[in-house]
Amino acid sequence: MILSTSRRLDPRLLRRRCLACGYDGALLRNGLAPRCARCGCDLRQRPARSYVEMEGIPGVSDHQSPRLDPIVEVQFVHRWVAFMFMVMFGLVVVIYLSAAAFSV
Ligand SMILES: [Zn+2]
Repeated sequence: MILSTSRRLDPRLLRRRCLACGYDGALLRNGLAPRCARCGCDLRQRPARSYVEMEGIPGVSDHQSPRLDPIVEVQFVHRWVAFMFMVMFGLVVVIYLSAAAFSV
């Protein structure tokens, strides 16, 4: 579950926004509105674009998300396993100290 969600690009990076004021609300209709609802910028002259479009990341659209680099993915798994180990270790310590406190 966590791995599958981490592989997806943040939806905020795919949302088109007004280049003049940064507005990305519903009234912009994902760049299809003729004017920006906030600042009145003519979106036909200066079309709204997403960060992904501005950065020119190839192969990314609203329906397609890039996969993480396999090395980054492995590092993420290692960090997740280390985190879970620390959580379990902390839980064991808390249980041990609780048992010691109640046995006195
Ligand atoms: Zn605007």
